[in-house]
Amino acid sequence: MQRIGIPHGLFYYYYYPLWKTFFCDLGAEVITSSQTNRRIIDKGIEAAVDEICFPLKVYLGHVEELLSKKLDYIFIPRIVSVERKSYICPKFIGIPDIVRAAIPHLPPMIDTIIDISKTDKFIKNDIVKVGKLFNSREKNIKEAYRHSCQELKFCRALAAQGCTMAEAIKIWEGESLDNNPETDLKIGVLGHGYSLYDESISMNIIKRLRGMGCQVLLPEALDQLSIEAEAATIPKRMFWTLGRIMIGSALHMAKRDDVDGIIYVACFGCGPDSMIGEIIERKLRNKPFMMITIDEHTGENGLVTRLEAFCDMLRRRRSVSCEDNLSAHG
Ligand code: SF4
Repeated sequence: MQRIGIPHGLFYYYYYPLWKTFFCDLGAEVITSSQTNRRIIDKGIEAAVDEICFPLKVYLGHVEELLSKKLDYIFIPRIVSVERKSYICPKFIGIPDIVRAAIPHLPPMIDTIIDISKTDKFIKNDIVKVGKLFNSREKNIKEAYRHSCQELKFCRALAAQGCTMAEAIKIWEGESLDNNPETDLKIGVLGHGYSLYDESISMNIIKRLRGMGCQVLLPEALDQLSIEAEAATIPKRMFWTLGRIMIGSALHMAKRDDVDGIIYVACFGCGPDSMIGEIIERKLRNKPFMMITIDEHTGENGLVTRLEAFCDMLRRRRSVSCEDNLSAHG
């Protein structure tokens, strides 16, 4: 059985169920790196150039960890676009090259191009090409792809019920999760899935908020049409897929009375975040908003203090009769 490694970072949090099902259905064994931990972060920082963003550094650490697993292939797709007329951050286009430049002695890399910005005609050929590395029958490959799309849909439906994509993947793999504690606040939390749902990168921000009595509302739990409608209200169309989802989600949450406040988790060194965070901050006038920028040096105590202060401020706003007297921005 051929072994294929999938790093536990970046678009893992959006597409792992699809990739895993596809390769397993074709008879391959899928190996992933462990959840992000300090060792993986340090390895990534060592391998990376200083200028790249934190999630990309962590991704390099995951690739390094996979090297010890005796793989036949490593799967590092070159993701350009996952929907029409929109793109993913340009750093994703260069990931296979960044990995090759930073990490020697890699197993053969599957770096298929994922680009459906104009048409999905070529992607179908590329899927067959990748599938043929594991199974020669085109019919089996197409069936594996159809099945993998179904599994991804199932995971996204779980996330739509309020869990994170990381939790949805765990449930999909058979794990059971703890029940959420009682909550008295509802907070919208935004950020790129690969930083937000990675417990080490985000320093467990979602679990911490739940522990502080907050129900967390994530973009995956919102109606996609509402997100698109709100994102379309800004003067120039946002052509980054994740950026558009963040802006649309923030504007949608801002209009909801049941949402007490919004937190945006940005990554230091991220070009899109510096612009999207700014747009959201300027647009949200009446909803309490906090932007948290994280990197490898962010201290947990500082983060907890900011979260506690934000929650206290939201509770105080609720308890006073005229909340307009309290600044929405702390
Ligand atoms: S969007 Fe930002 S965090 Fe994500 S890969 Fe690009 S630069 Fe890095």
